[in-house]
Amino acid sequence: MEEVKIYDEYTSSVFEGAENDPDNLVVVKNLKKYFPIKSSFFKITVGNVKAVDDVSFKIKRGTTMGLVGESGCGKSTIGRTILRLIEKTDGQVFINGKDIFSLSKNDLRKERPNIQIIFQDPYASLSPRLPIGEIIGEAVREHGIVPREEFDDYISRVMEACGLPDYYKPRYPHEFSGGQRQRICIARALALNPDFILCDEPVSALDVSIQAQIINLLKDLQKQFGLTYLFISHDLSVVEYISDTVGVMYLGNMVEFAPTEKIYANPKHPYTEALFSAIPVPDPDYKVNRIILEGSIPSPANPPSGCKFHTRCRKCMEVCKYLAPDFKELEPEHFCACHLYNTPERQKELDEAVAKIKKEKETKAAEGHGKKAKK
Ligand code: SF4
Repeated sequence: MEEVKIYDEYTSSVFEGAENDPDNLVVVKNLKKYFPIKSSFFKITVGNVKAVDDVSFKIKRGTTMGLVGESGCGKSTIGRTILRLIEKTDGQVFINGKDIFSLSKNDLRKERPNIQIIFQDPYASLSPRLPIGEIIGEAVREHGIVPREEFDDYISRVMEACGLPDYYKPRYPHEFSGGQRQRICIARALALNPDFILCDEPVSALDVSIQAQIINLLKDLQKQFGLTYLFISHDLSVVEYISDTVGVMYLGNMVEFAPTEKIYANPKHPYTEALFSAIPVPDPDYKVNRIILEGSIPSPANPPSGCKFHTRCRKCMEVCKYLAPDFKELEPEHFCACHLYNTPERQKELDEAVAKIKKEKETKAAEGHGKKAKK
């Protein structure tokens, strides 16, 4: 029987050669991160949790990309894999044109000051035993960012840029509020003079009024120092405010990626539509058309076949149950992975593939019945 080609992955390399464009600071190509599931006794790998499954995007220098999606969709895993805090399963990550995963330990250490992270929990991410001057300055000294005689002055200037007076230096983290602690975390990242900062839900643990201060601080610092951010968040309003481009994740896949105005004004993917329909509108007369997603998010250890969203999609078609859609550019800079936007030729090709898969399944089922009858 002719072998059926199952398009079980996104087939396109939409960002081919993007790492050679000096405008792109970060380029992620077909990144995968699987966590093995081991059997309890022999520790044999019996499956994988596909936390990040063939994700591609790029971030232009000096801009912010927002990354949104439900809990467990792989947002934070992407961030940590990009920074090489965890190893990838497959794919490539370029920062400043350098392939991060091909760097030696030494070269990666030299690259570390350029790629920084701000964590979600400002309480857990600061050592309680060090005064904040030391917390901010520790890595500056380690990487020799400034000559020893300028060290004190430099730390004061960084603190000032983050809204922290320099007489705070000898104080300990427990003496500060959540917002101030997050400023300390930002100062610690900024002190290394980075190009790229991964902001992993940096305001989720803060009060709303403090959130606004931190977001505005991040924006000011970006203008002042030309920083590039990957901003991971649940809060779609915050993401809209701070981001230049937005990527939407579902169950380890990026389903849509576009400039902020385009994606908020005209979301193309049914999941993005549902997600954005939940944004509250501060107008009592405005009638919100909320799209309620049925069912819960499937397990990434056993995701649905074809389009992973098909079990919850109100526009699901036959092809969606069998074949994963391509991640393709629908209009300039607007990428989406959905069969609704297939060209007639592509749709014909996929319909034929679905027919073959179905036929193969029927043949296998018939063979199975035949064997049972013989027994
Ligand atoms: Fe829905 Fe099909 Fe598009 Fe998936 S590919 S989002 S199931 S229409």
